[in-house]
Amino acid sequence: MYDPKSHVATEFISNDEIQATLAYADANKDNVTLIDQILDKARLHKGLDHREASVLLACTLPAKNKEIMGLAKGIKEAYYGTRIVMFAPLYLSNYCVNGCVYCPFHGQNKTIPRQKLTQAEIEREVIALQDMGHKRLALETGEDPVNSPIEYVLESINTIYSIKHKNGAIRRVNVNIAATTVENYKKLHDAGIGTYILFQETYHKQSYLDLHPYGPKRNYDYHTEAMDRAMEGGIDDVGIGVLFGLDKFRYEFAGLLMHAEHLEAAYGVGPHTISVPRICPADDIDPESFDNGISDETFEKIVACIRIAVPYTGMIMSTRESEDIRREVLDLGISQISGASVTSVGGYAGETQADLESNQFDTSDKRSLDEVVRWLMDLGYIPSFCTACYRAGRTGDRFMSLCKSGQIQNCCHPNALMTLKEYLEDYASPETVAAGNRLIDDQIGDIPNERIRQVVAKRLDAIAGGARDFRI
Ligand code: SAM
Ligand code: SF4
Repeated sequence: MYDPKSHVATEFISNDEIQATLAYADANKDNVTLIDQILDKARLHKGLDHREASVLLACTLPAKNKEIMGLAKGIKEAYYGTRIVMFAPLYLSNYCVNGCVYCPFHGQNKTIPRQKLTQAEIEREVIALQDMGHKRLALETGEDPVNSPIEYVLESINTIYSIKHKNGAIRRVNVNIAATTVENYKKLHDAGIGTYILFQETYHKQSYLDLHPYGPKRNYDYHTEAMDRAMEGGIDDVGIGVLFGLDKFRYEFAGLLMHAEHLEAAYGVGPHTISVPRICPADDIDPESFDNGISDETFEKIVACIRIAVPYTGMIMSTRESEDIRREVLDLGISQISGASVTSVGGYAGETQADLESNQFDTSDKRSLDEVVRWLMDLGYIPSFCTACYRAGRTGDRFMSLCKSGQIQNCCHPNALMTLKEYLEDYASPETVAAGNRLIDDQIGDIPNERIRQVVAKRLDAIAGGARDFRI
């Protein structure tokens, strides 16, 4: 039985409901009257349910698809403006007891060097990341109760927040670790994490079991109910996602939206972020061995339809994607991208062969952070290093109501400009400094509230004079 308020995985992600949704979408994919009604509803910028959004995803009419893409761009602009938040992943350990068949960290891979960072090595990695200009990290580890227990993760978070180096400091640590207990989520919350991120990989239960032949992650229900336990543990910013390529994308899309609806229905707070990773080549993994890979065109349509269905959510794209694809999907809905990412354990500062070869997957976008920042500005975006909301306690429903009210323009826009200014002062190349200062001069007038505009102008001068870490 389908029940979005239930806390039972197979009830809020009901296979019957997904099958019914796919049949409904198939039956209506060329139904212009219905598609127009759905588009009219979407124009209110209040989102769509999984059935409505699945019809848009299935639609094959070129004129309607053009409207869908245009609408996604409009919603992105209305909620997020031209800001793109920057982050980097930090891999702590690649020891793993799970058997995920798509991931080279799986327990039976004997060729990958196993690495686990000491606290001193974490400090070295964090300094390398700070020296690039990063302020926001996503921590990644394999699941291993011996090599990476929760105490190790907590100690690492503490180490990261405590490192102050030149003008650098990591201001927000998001965490992508295996599903765990309410008690451990409480500990992560108390350690001051930003978003707790966990990808479902696939919502299809049988495929999930096939793809996870052994290890604690094999428990579909425990994994799927992880965000419920995270919420119970006090974490109200959670990030969901699937690994596209594992199962049929339309099934995953409906599952993702039902998960978002469940979080709204059960806790009053939808997902803070939705990630859209696609499977990549890796040590002993060939993406061709998974036959559900999606084309770039489908990927773009998925991003657009998620943006329309869940207008308030942050949407994350990693360096799994190439520069070309990143350019195409930025304005369709993406609000956060990683820059200069390394997916090996110790790869930012390390020099040994193991530091370089312990990577999870091959990244496509290999540019430096400075290059990505300048590229974003050349395309008309504002790269943002902002971490203000979470540090001001605007998480969960407080963030969502700010976002839904449209007031984010008086808040995120100034914060983006001020953190970009810090980046320019401390880390950027001369070309990036010139382009960035021009952009800031252009954009300051777009702050709607006059008082805030004046405050920001003063603070930008103060940043040029050496002051740091202002926020609205
Ligand atoms: N071990 C934790 C887990 O599995 O949830 C979190 C860290 S894991 C390093 C982060 C994510 O990497 C996984 O959730 C999976 O979706 C993704 N991943 C694994 N193998 C991949 C591959 N070959 N290509 C792209 N992404 C991959
Ligand atoms: Fe381990 Fe996560 Fe990779 Fe699975 S996806 S093998 S749990 S690191």
